[in-house]
Amino acid sequence: MITSKEFVERLKSMRPNCYMHGQLIQRDDPRMMTSMKDILMTFDLVDDPGYKDFITATSHLTGKTINRFTHIHQTVDDLLKKQMMTRVLSRLSGTCIQRCMGVDMMNALSVVTKEADDKNGGKTEYYERFKAFCKEFQEKDMVGAAAQTDVKGDRLLRPHEQADPDLYMRVVERNAKGVVVRGCKVHTTVGPYCDELIVTPCRTLTKEEGDWSICFSIPADTKGVHMLIEAANPTPRKAFPAEVEKHGIAHSVTIFDDVLVPWDRVFLDQDPQLGGRAALLFALYHRHSYTGCKPAYTDILMGTTALIAEVSGIEKEQHVRHKLAEMISIAELVYAAGIAAAHTATKASSGTMIPNVIYCNVGRKHAGVNIYHEYDTLCDICGGQPQTMPYEEEYADPKWRAYLDKYFARKKDVSPEIVHRAFRLAQDLIAGPVASNMQIAGVHGGGSPIMEDIAILGNYPIEEKKNIARRLAGIPEKEIKPKEPKK
Ligand code: SF4
Repeated sequence: MITSKEFVERLKSMRPNCYMHGQLIQRDDPRMMTSMKDILMTFDLVDDPGYKDFITATSHLTGKTINRFTHIHQTVDDLLKKQMMTRVLSRLSGTCIQRCMGVDMMNALSVVTKEADDKNGGKTEYYERFKAFCKEFQEKDMVGAAAQTDVKGDRLLRPHEQADPDLYMRVVERNAKGVVVRGCKVHTTVGPYCDELIVTPCRTLTKEEGDWSICFSIPADTKGVHMLIEAANPTPRKAFPAEVEKHGIAHSVTIFDDVLVPWDRVFLDQDPQLGGRAALLFALYHRHSYTGCKPAYTDILMGTTALIAEVSGIEKEQHVRHKLAEMISIAELVYAAGIAAAHTATKASSGTMIPNVIYCNVGRKHAGVNIYHEYDTLCDICGGQPQTMPYEEEYADPKWRAYLDKYFARKKDVSPEIVHRAFRLAQDLIAGPVASNMQIAGVHGGGSPIMEDIAILGNYPIEEKKNIARRLAGIPEKEIKPKEPKK
């Protein structure tokens, strides 16, 4: 394992290929340092006795102690620890711990590469290539970005039907050295500060779409890769420093301009069926991670709601108690879904644990449909102050501070500074630059709501439920053929 300092040094040695506000930026640009603060925490906490047990794991490939963000889940306990780690670290960060994308991709590839070799009767060597890469990923303590979502063009057309075939990432050439890929991936969280871009298709594919069924990993500064960056960083504090101002997040539009991927980094090619499976498996692992981080974000919104109610003297009001009970129910039901998904996980032929598809998706769906409701609750309890309160400079100016302390006081035994800090936090959460990122990610991160419905309906035994109704209604039950689970 490496330290966060070593990680930043490694980033600095990479070829600059990230563009922001019209400039080519360095990977340790101060704005990126704020965005990557969460990632740095995942290196810094490995020796902390309070975190060590779940942030580290034992590699199934080397037997060495590794960061859990590079681990391939071997047991139910691994899945549970990953979920708990995601909740605990996301609470600390106040946003999203960000490093899950890489490990979720690695787990998906560990399954698919082995299944491809099994299917091809030993004619391919994807799993051996993957294991060699995985060892390197673990030894170097790498950070991976999931470059999955294609730009997709006309939404009613399949990849091979698009007017421009590059609207979904595809192979344009195969040669002795490797494959040449062209396309553009969007929403690449951690793109500007990752080691590797790990790529899979983003959807199921048809038999015409062998060129689009490509899975691989390459260093993020590989020739031909260009990243256009957007960063959602919090407003820096001037007078009242706080943890919340240290954590942002950045994403890239990631352009692959005829990029050569060497054969040893190609993990699937010309297999539309398994290309689609890789897409769905990544989403499944990420939705399981989400059953850890989404409860954490509800914890943050719930805690802030309760704090604002406390400093305002209304914490015992019935409507406040009902709202908090609702938030608790959301957080703990989502978390419980992740626990259930781990306990009903199945083992892939590679030995990797695959969490239960129904529980992961219902947990993720429950979180997604409630995200704006949670913001609504905090906003309701706060009133308009998070949006209209004066800037920090006025609080720091003795001329205005006396007025502000007097007129913004709430409960008599609560100091004006505590009231101010509580509302400033609420401002960061519901009216600051990170808020919109967390709201949109709360709906679309890990797959948009429709994708959860598709996964749930495609895997749920609805015919069994109809038979329950038939029996109760006196209608003959139908024979149900067992269906292959779609992961
Ligand atoms: Fe991890 Fe959640 Fe952030 Fe995804 S949204 S990277 S699961 S913390």
